[in-house]
Amino acid sequence: MSYYSPSIEKLIESFEKLPSIGNKTAVRLAFYILNASKGETEEFIKSIQDAKKNLKFCSKCYNISDTNPCEICSNTKRDQTKICVVEDVKDVVAIEKIHEYKGLYHVLHGSISPMDGIGPDDIRIKELLARLIGEKVKEVILATNPKVEGEATAMYISKLVKPMGIKVTRLAHGIPIGGDLEYTDEFTLGKALEGRTEL
Ligand SMILES: [Zn+2]
Repeated sequence: MSYYSPSIEKLIESFEKLPSIGNKTAVRLAFYILNASKGETEEFIKSIQDAKKNLKFCSKCYNISDTNPCEICSNTKRDQTKICVVEDVKDVVAIEKIHEYKGLYHVLHGSISPMDGIGPDDIRIKELLARLIGEKVKEVILATNPKVEGEATAMYISKLVKPMGIKVTRLAHGIPIGGDLEYTDEFTLGKALEGRTEL
């Protein structure tokens, strides 16, 4: 049974559904909202609604963008012969921040993880392969996270792409094993990209 009134309970439940938000944080956020001014809460609600309304997946690389194709895919100055494969939209941001990579991306939206019931068909691998047939890609850079799932995903993609006669590279080590690309500092990530090795 709950000690809170139904409306607060509902708000707490909504926050608890967000990633990495436990019950304590959810309660704190719910009470923050209750104490915030009407203007503040309206702005918050509007920013969520606008993001949901305006943002879409790029139909080429599956990055999230206000436009389709996204700004990166539609930029003709970018190197169309390279595709950097990442697990998450946040990884695109992490790599863009180092200002070294000028090629295209492909966002898988996850990694192969049999333990969680996620197989190759559950992430955007088919879509990647389709792009390799149609485009003039010479190198696929596998920038999945250096975790068991990320490594397995990289190996799986490598086995499919190499027979197509396309060079497959993997980010150099240096990114902490078990780490996340998005939390890797820009210098380390830049070095890992520069020192990538062929698989
Ligand atoms: Zn795109």
